[in-house]
Amino acid sequence: MKFYSTNDRKLSVSFKEAVVKGLAPDGGLFYPESLPQLDKSFIKNLPNLSLAEIGFEVSKHFLGDDIPADKLKEICDDALNFPTPLVSLEPNVYSFELFHGPSCAFKDVGARFMSRCLSYFAKESDEKITILAATSGDTGSAVAHGFLGIKNIDVVILYPSGKVSQIQEQQLTTLGNNITALEIDGSFDDCQALVKKAFQDDELNKHMKLSSANSINIARLIPQSFYYFYAYGQLKKQNKDLVISVPSGNYGNLTAGLIAKQMGLPIKRFIASTNVNKVIPDYLATGKYESKASIQSISNAMDVGAPSNFDRMMTLYQENHPRICEDLKGASFNDDQTKKVMKKVYKESNYILDPHGAVAYLGLKKELDAENELGVFIETAHPAKFLDVVEEVINTKVEIPDYLKSCLTKEKTSIKMACNYQDFKNYLKS
Ligand SMILES: *Cc1c(COP(=O)(O)O)cnc(C)c1O
Repeated sequence: MKFYSTNDRKLSVSFKEAVVKGLAPDGGLFYPESLPQLDKSFIKNLPNLSLAEIGFEVSKHFLGDDIPADKLKEICDDALNFPTPLVSLEPNVYSFELFHGPSCAFKDVGARFMSRCLSYFAKESDEKITILAATSGDTGSAVAHGFLGIKNIDVVILYPSGKVSQIQEQQLTTLGNNITALEIDGSFDDCQALVKKAFQDDELNKHMKLSSANSINIARLIPQSFYYFYAYGQLKKQNKDLVISVPSGNYGNLTAGLIAKQMGLPIKRFIASTNVNKVIPDYLATGKYESKASIQSISNAMDVGAPSNFDRMMTLYQENHPRICEDLKGASFNDDQTKKVMKKVYKESNYILDPHGAVAYLGLKKELDAENELGVFIETAHPAKFLDVVEEVINTKVEIPDYLKSCLTKEKTSIKMACNYQDFKNYLKS
């Protein structure tokens, strides 16, 4: 299958090129030229399939021309090797825990899949690739872990100084090896802008082979559709319409869900749940899209004022606002509401929500018809990743997974940098 730029349908490339480039040369995002319709028999058989098996079946439609089936199978088995349980919280409400991977966030799914695809291509052409990733927290560690120690690949992570949690920062800055962390004096949007500029810089791109690992990379987006099929399969026997609430920042997670629906997965509707950075809920309410400067919140992985996947959502729905509103509701909540519901759910269900999952839970409760529908909200991070907030809110110690514990004691190594493109470019060239 070919992938074209959301800015220009005529600009189409192979999966390999789309993955290595990350962003299209005209600044657009790569998008599949057609969405495969999956067989009814596949949908029917979903309850019997593991996440890795689903991954293989779905991805071969997209990647089959570029990666041979046996390799693709290996990539799926290796990347999708951690549990993704659906935990029952209340009647008809499930928490879909996608944080049991090595960095304790859902981004492990996309990052692990992508790193294995890229490493397959790098091995094939014996070329050195530098991955640039701007992160508001979780992307960085998932990407860094996905690529740690992989030959021919260097990873440069840009994160906003002082705007990620301590655990997140430790996860980004303690790996060493082929991973470098740049601590930028600015916001997440500033980090993202530096990365975007680097990709559009012809001179720099002649000098080195750059690739992105943000949610803009198509090799991160595609695998994020797999778990929606998995959730459907696990809940199918309840025979109820499914509504899924997705805590959203750059909207890669949600876009992948909308793509799964378009490929034939029977999800009744989605909820775009977010914090006070509510550009998309506002778009859904008014039909007008206006990017904004991001505002800091306790669910900081969603502090995004110019969500990069908006263009893909528009491509998917051909900019048809009424149609997108049929499939998608928007919901936005402030930090007080988020904290309050974290407290409430802990008290009533003895379940610890992280701030992002809490926002998704709020969105689900707002939009679900709990009598007749089955609701799922996505828990995108382990609560221990946001330890300070979570422990203060629920007034209880949170158990830290062993892996997170070990990185807390390692020494931080980062390179501090002003938010200045020339400095960044000089660093990359050096
Ligand atoms: C990245 C992230 C999100 C937002 O995901 P998008 O795909 O960018 O919308 C939500 N929660 C957590 C914990 C994240 O790390």
